[in-house]
Amino acid sequence: MEKLALHGGTPAKTVPYTRGKRFGKEELAYLEEALNQNTLFYWFGKMTKRLCAKFADMYGAKYCVATSSGTSAIHVALGACGVGPGDEVITAPITDMGSVIGILFQNAIPVFADVDPNSYNMTAESIEAKITDRTKAILVVHLAGNPAEMDKIMEVANKHGIYVIEDCAQAYCCSYKGKLAGTFGHIGCFSLNDFKHISAGDGGMIIMNDEKLYHDAHMFADKCYDRIGSDVKKNVPYLAPNYRMSELVGAVGLAQVEKVEDICAKRHVYGDKLNAALQDIPGLMPHKVLDGAYCSWWFYLMRIDEEVMGCTNKEFFAALEAEGVGGQWGYIPSCVYQYDLFKNRNAYPGTHYPFDGTHGNPIEYHDGDCPNAEAVLASCIKLVINEFYTEQDCDETIAAIRKVANYFLSKKNG
Ligand SMILES: *Cc1c(COP(=O)(O)O)cnc(C)c1O
Repeated sequence: MEKLALHGGTPAKTVPYTRGKRFGKEELAYLEEALNQNTLFYWFGKMTKRLCAKFADMYGAKYCVATSSGTSAIHVALGACGVGPGDEVITAPITDMGSVIGILFQNAIPVFADVDPNSYNMTAESIEAKITDRTKAILVVHLAGNPAEMDKIMEVANKHGIYVIEDCAQAYCCSYKGKLAGTFGHIGCFSLNDFKHISAGDGGMIIMNDEKLYHDAHMFADKCYDRIGSDVKKNVPYLAPNYRMSELVGAVGLAQVEKVEDICAKRHVYGDKLNAALQDIPGLMPHKVLDGAYCSWWFYLMRIDEEVMGCTNKEFFAALEAEGVGGQWGYIPSCVYQYDLFKNRNAYPGTHYPFDGTHGNPIEYHDGDCPNAEAVLASCIKLVINEFYTEQDCDETIAAIRKVANYFLSKKNG
């Protein structure tokens, strides 16, 4: 058996992962155009409008609104759907805080539905079990660029007359049964933060087909001012934040959106190859992609079955890291509902609002609420996927995983 790099053997990864430049002359050209406009305000300039037009076109959506972040995109989507105090919004326990921040700022209540143990996405079944007469919206997270079962989820939502917002912050250009994630629900939300498939530093995008939702989203992102036409209307019917995108961000965002299909296509090939090669290793649970799903792999999340492999995810990753493989053991430190904010019901310090049932539906969050999600986080290893990777990077990553698995399996099984 090959000696692990951890024990002084030769690392399976013989060269460092290939890297590349994300930004270039395209971004610079649009930035120069933006500055030459002599205004960086989205309503006066052209870059943010061009970004929205391009993005809507790419997704076959009627309308697009640009915002300051993925978090704000989701907040705007919730605001446009009329989510308010006491409403419940069902979302995923394995996600970024950005999924729940907007819910809480609308004084609504996040309700967490468990995930499938292998796709790590919520299911129609787990969602339906959480629906009450207070449920206003479902915020579906397509984790890691891997689409959730949107046909079944839409069936459940339509049956109950509930809004569906898709959190596509990690899910550019991925599709389910031929339809792009972000176009199944009423609104799709995207992030342009620096860690996503594409980056404008920070930024967000929202797509929708309904004219009223567009009108409300546009206003909700801009102080409830209405700048859709050539005159601004400032009669302000209700409270909304300022989440506008500047023309500088719009310029970089436009150049990045022009590259996103190519970036996702490369990640798709690399991630699918990795996934195919990991299907038959005892004790290694690969990242499950549904039949009919096209994944754009923001990262790859596999699980280690300690009983079978004879080691923990942490031990497995330590060996993998010594072989030169990039990633980490674990993903987020715990389910979102296990964060202090939820455990202590401390969204607005000094109160338990909105968790205290001021509006008739008190809620508490406990360990064990979503057992699958907790088991996933306790056993997973996150591998980096990158559009700059080469065949060699891919092959050596697979070889390293097989080598480490062989070591632990033969140690366990004598
Ligand atoms: C990154 C992310 C967000 C938040 O996006 P920001 O641009 O960082 O505000 C929301 N949801 C998910 C699933 C994310 O990965």
